[in-house]
Amino acid sequence: MKQLSTLAGVVASVFAFTSLSTTAVVAQEAQTASAVVSPAKKTLADVEYRLPSTIAPTFQHIHLNIDPDNPTYSGKTNIDVTVKTPTKKVGFYQQDLTVTSARLVSGSSSFPLNVTIGEYDINWGESQDEIAPGKYTLEITFEGKVNTSSDGMYLSRFEETNYIFTQFEDMHARKAFPSFDEPNFKIPYQMTISSPEHQEIVGNTPVEKVTVENGIKTVVFEKTKPMPTYLIAYTVGPFDSAEISGLSVPGKIYVPKGYADKTKFVIKHIPEILASLEDFFGIKYPYKKMDFVAVPNFTHGAMENVGLITYRDSLLLLEDNPSVTERSRPLNVIAHELAHQWFGNLVTMAWWDDLWLNEAFASWAASHTMKTLYPELNYADRIVQEGAFGADASPTVKPVKKVVKSQPDVMDGLGLNYSKGESILQMIESLIGTEKFREGVQNYMNTHAWGNTVADDLWRALDEVSDFNLSAMMKAYLEQPGYPLIHISKDGKLTQSRFHLAGATVEDKTWAVPLKLTYQSNGKILNEVVFIDKETTVLPQLAEADWVYPNDNATGYFRWSIEPAQLNALLNNIDALNKREKKNVLYNYQALLNADQVGVDSVMKVLNSLAKDDDPAVIRAAVGVLAEFSYLVNEDNKAAYAKLLNQNYMPLLNKLTLSQSEQDNADVIRLRNQIYSLLGTHSNNDQLVEQSVKIAKQYLADTNSVPSGIAGTAIEIATRNSEQGEQGTWFNTIVEAFKKAQLPNVKSTLVYSMYFEDKATVFKMLDLALTDDITPANTMYMVVRVARNLDDHTLLYEWLSKNKDALLAKMPDYHVSRMPEFVSTTCSAENLEKANAFYAPISETYQGMARGVEIMQDESQQCMRLKSAFQADFNAFLNEQL
Ligand SMILES: [Zn+2]
Repeated sequence: MKQLSTLAGVVASVFAFTSLSTTAVVAQEAQTASAVVSPAKKTLADVEYRLPSTIAPTFQHIHLNIDPDNPTYSGKTNIDVTVKTPTKKVGFYQQDLTVTSARLVSGSSSFPLNVTIGEYDINWGESQDEIAPGKYTLEITFEGKVNTSSDGMYLSRFEETNYIFTQFEDMHARKAFPSFDEPNFKIPYQMTISSPEHQEIVGNTPVEKVTVENGIKTVVFEKTKPMPTYLIAYTVGPFDSAEISGLSVPGKIYVPKGYADKTKFVIKHIPEILASLEDFFGIKYPYKKMDFVAVPNFTHGAMENVGLITYRDSLLLLEDNPSVTERSRPLNVIAHELAHQWFGNLVTMAWWDDLWLNEAFASWAASHTMKTLYPELNYADRIVQEGAFGADASPTVKPVKKVVKSQPDVMDGLGLNYSKGESILQMIESLIGTEKFREGVQNYMNTHAWGNTVADDLWRALDEVSDFNLSAMMKAYLEQPGYPLIHISKDGKLTQSRFHLAGATVEDKTWAVPLKLTYQSNGKILNEVVFIDKETTVLPQLAEADWVYPNDNATGYFRWSIEPAQLNALLNNIDALNKREKKNVLYNYQALLNADQVGVDSVMKVLNSLAKDDDPAVIRAAVGVLAEFSYLVNEDNKAAYAKLLNQNYMPLLNKLTLSQSEQDNADVIRLRNQIYSLLGTHSNNDQLVEQSVKIAKQYLADTNSVPSGIAGTAIEIATRNSEQGEQGTWFNTIVEAFKKAQLPNVKSTLVYSMYFEDKATVFKMLDLALTDDITPANTMYMVVRVARNLDDHTLLYEWLSKNKDALLAKMPDYHVSRMPEFVSTTCSAENLEKANAFYAPISETYQGMARGVEIMQDESQQCMRLKSAFQADFNAFLNEQL
């Protein structure tokens, strides 16, 4: 699964200020046993939140009667099971269904089952007679309601037409039909779906047989390969489709009616991505077909279902030739989902506590593919750890590998499965080399193909191809929360402690850290790898060094600090570092400031030595560091901050200009967008506002005329600077253009860039979120946008109090649980008080929301602590500049 939504940009900018406290900006999108854990030899002890190991499924057939225009459906399922010990009870999962009959059948004998609902969605079918060990078929008939909240089997209404989609990861298959809904039950499935004749029906496998009777079409799909329930998918609706040619198997993209011609860009690139992964794994794509579906209402970015991969429509429906930066996300998400076909699908984690095995590897493999196939997108320069460090510094963060009993446990800290997981794999790759890493991965794949694994299996496979004790390192990082801060003293003494932000209290830990040192001694630059696994280590060679940099190529998952004299020496030799390392120095010093390890002056010293670097990627990191101080900008110092920006950065924007040319590389485009956004927000520059109004109007008249990165910022600047009387007109013009637009990304750029603070228009934006124009999966982003626009959240909570029932009913469950964190995180005590009052009566009513509130409170308090710690220093710094 890919947790990123296309609106990640919105959320990322919302959290621009909290990222320095705790939030992972990048939602960039989960033990212990030895061999394959197959259902037959499950080694984990039985626990109350899972089905007992005494009954195992071997095959399941499911027949569903679905009409997208009817909110209810019916079904029947036959599950072949092996009963291993005598029992009277048969457990299975279902949620929100009505079970109309259940019995266990073997030959001529039949055991009717009386079904009661237990904890953890486990239903217990009880027989009056004892059931002897042997093979049986569990037959269940049931009825269900199609939901609209985009998990389980759900309805998506798009352009007046109904479509049915599914999203079963992590524990949602049980909402569509009864099953043994655990990832270690990898068995073949066969799906039969009956639906009105005019509907297109697509499943995991090719069609085996179609019959039509009385206007109802029944499609029997071929049996699947062994797979877990969470990868089952089907879709019903009047789809159009386009062929993907050049794959090793047949493939199509299914799209809502009328959109097939918007798929040309992805169709061109999918075959090369698949071929590159087949080559990396040394195993051909393991299934018989590979279809994609563009889903107009989807909580997540995409989902790697076997043979039927679902995507947010904005990732597949694109211009024929998107600009270089707009290619990045769709290609990366496609590579991520295709990597899952091996990591996750062919080899599956035994339980949800090892979900990180899926996500870390898919993320790592996607980055690897992007670097290999699309060097111009500069994935090689991306420092993935920066997407994890924020969330992983929180005092209440959980380890990546943690106890998982229920769905909210999986969701808690989900983002770190991707970002921290990928960072740790990258650290290993950089230690042992890409080829050895690949050899380990190939061995692991070949050993466990079609089976289930636990983390130890992977650690063993990697240990076998390396001389390092990788297991110790990975355990320390994945079974403990947080990460180390390594301090290097002038005398060569190294100490490690748990990194934490100013004022926070955390439990101390130690890690096994591979430190890749670069230092200069006697005029020579030397490289050395040392493992430190104690609190204190002494490296006498560093006492002699002219300068030291402890994070070669910036692949380490840790923060580091050196003494002021060592920093001066490093900055005097800064061009000995590559651009990844320079970026790391910037981000690292900003983090040290937030941890109260250095003062604002040290950060500014680093900033000044790198802000005029030759490389746009380094300058962008410097501008990013400066932008992080925006949370300290207030009524009293905003003029001074504006002056600083106009003096030091406006010349750079003037040089870059506000028009994008074909010759601009990805770094230049990203730098322009970033600096335009910072200056547009804080420079208070009339000329820039005037220019922005012009660009915004041009885009509203013709959305092809301006690249979206520039257009979004222009709309924001134009609307935030508009006169009171003009705001309604801007709103109406933007919504009109939104309704006319066809491409999902254009639609998002339009409505999620609006910036209004007056009551009437704020309420219009929020009301829009409740209309059918905004899909349930996008609804929260509109509220997030409004929260971000307002310094004072009074209007937000006034509207929320009146509309909370409608809003919470419309949003997907996942967004409901995360709403406090996304919408309400704040750096103001008054806003936090309002948030607490709003959530207090409802946080226990909605699953997972209480944890969302806890994260929101942590992050908000952290931001306030940082504010009180650094406000005076920042003000003093601004005064010095003037
Ligand atoms: Zn994924």
